[in-house]
Amino acid sequence: MIYDYIIAGAGLGGLSFAHHLIHSQRPFERILIIDRDDKKTNDRTWSFWSEEQPEYHCAHGQHWEQLGFISNHFSKFENINPFKYYTIDGLSFYEEVRQEISKDSRFHWLKADVKHISSHLDDGVVSTNLGLHHGQVVIDSISRPKLDDNHSINVWQSFLGWTIQTHSPLFDPDKPILMDFRVTQAGAASFVYVLPYSPNHALVEYTQFTSTKSIDKEAYARALNQYLKRHWGLTDFGIEDEEIGQIPMTNHEFNPHPSERVHRLGTAGGDTKPTTGYTFTNVQSHVKAILNEQVQTREDKTRFAFYDTLLLQIIQQKPEQVKPIMEYLFKSQPFTRVLRFLDETTHPLEEMMIFGQLPWAPFINSLTKKWKHDYIG
Ligand SMILES: Cc1cc2nc3c(=O)[nH]c(=O)nc-3n(C[C@H](O)[C@H](O)[C@H](O)COP(=O)(O)OP(=O)(O)OC[C@H]3O[C@@H](n4cnc5c(N)ncnc54)[C@H](O)[C@@H]3O)c2cc1C
Repeated sequence: MIYDYIIAGAGLGGLSFAHHLIHSQRPFERILIIDRDDKKTNDRTWSFWSEEQPEYHCAHGQHWEQLGFISNHFSKFENINPFKYYTIDGLSFYEEVRQEISKDSRFHWLKADVKHISSHLDDGVVSTNLGLHHGQVVIDSISRPKLDDNHSINVWQSFLGWTIQTHSPLFDPDKPILMDFRVTQAGAASFVYVLPYSPNHALVEYTQFTSTKSIDKEAYARALNQYLKRHWGLTDFGIEDEEIGQIPMTNHEFNPHPSERVHRLGTAGGDTKPTTGYTFTNVQSHVKAILNEQVQTREDKTRFAFYDTLLLQIIQQKPEQVKPIMEYLFKSQPFTRVLRFLDETTHPLEEMMIFGQLPWAPFINSLTKKWKHDYIG
C-alpha cells in the first residue's frame, strides 16, 4: 500500500503538518503517522510572538501584550503591539491535533521506531522496526544533522524550567521577562526567562548558551533556586512541572527538501532560528509552504544568516560579550523592532540602526575570524 503522506515524527513538525493538511483543500485518501512515543506527557512549552491569533485553540487561553528585559543596570518593559506573546503547553497541542486526527478516518497511527528514511523514483520509504512503509511524500521531523563537523558553528541553548506555585502573590501576570541577566555569567551566557501565568504561578527557566551537549541539572537547579531567592525572595514554592532540554543553535546548512519525495520539517528542516531557538512560528510557515508547493529558501535572507553567524561566533568564542550586547540591544531598540529583526522582516536601514547602537569590538573580532576562516582557512 502506498500512503499519500507518511508523517515520520508526531511532535511539533509532524502534528502541525497533520493539522494544516486537514484544514487544507488538498485531496488525500490515506495518511500514516509514525512515532515511537505516545506523546502523552507535557514535555515542553512553546512560546512565540505573532501578529495574528494562532490557529490552535490551545493557544487562545492566555497571551501577553508586553515583554520585559532585566539586567543589573536597567529594566525595561514595553508594549509589543502589533504582536502578542503566546504560549502553548505541549500536551494540549498534542491532544488537540490528536483529536482532530481521530475524527478523520483517512489517518492511521503507527507506534514504531523509525530506522531510516529513503527516497525512490516513485515513492519515499520509511523503514521501521515493524517493516517498510511507502508514501508518495514523506514528512520527516525525525532526522537530526550531525553537528560535529568543523564547517559550522554549533552551540546549544540549554535550559531547566520549573512551573512554580507560590504561597503569596509575587508575579505581575502582565509582565513576562524575556531575559533576566541578573545571574552569574561564569564562562557561558546565562539568563532566566519568566513567564507569569498569574500572581502565584509562573514558568521560570534558567538558560545557558553552552558548547557542550550535556546539562548539569544540579547546577541549573542551584542557579534557579539562587535566582528565585535573591530576586524574588522565594525559598518556599511548589514545582508543578519541569522541562529540561537543549535546542541546537547552529549555522549548519540544513537541507529541508533532500529529494522529490521527502520534506524535512521542524528541527530537521532548519526551522529553528539559530540565535534564539524559536521554532514554532517557522514550522507553521514551512508547513504552509510545503502544502502550497512553494520552495522555501533562506537565499533572500542572506543578511540574516550572516548576522546569525556573527552572533553565534560571539556566543562560542566570547560568551562574556553576550550580556552587554543584549543590554545595548534592548536598551536602544524598541522591542517590536527586535522581534521583527528576529523574524527576519526588518529592512536594511533598520538593521543599520540596530547595529549602529551595538558595541562593535566583538563583531569586528568575529568578522575578522570569519574572514580568515573563509578565505585563508
Ligand atoms: C523543552 C523545549 C522547549 C522549547 N520551547 C520552545 C519555545 O518556547 N518556542 C519555540 O519556538 N521553540 C521551542 N523549542 C524548540 C522547538 O520548537 C522544539 O524542539 C520542537 O518540538 C521541534 O519540533 P520537531 O517536530 O522538530 O521535533 P519534536 O517536536 O521533538 O518531534 C519529533 C518527534 O519524532 C519522534 N521521534 C524521534 N525519533 C524517532 C524515531 N527514531 N522513531 C520514531 N519516532 C521518533 C519523537 O518522539 C517526537 O515526537 C523548545 C524545545 C525544547 C526541547
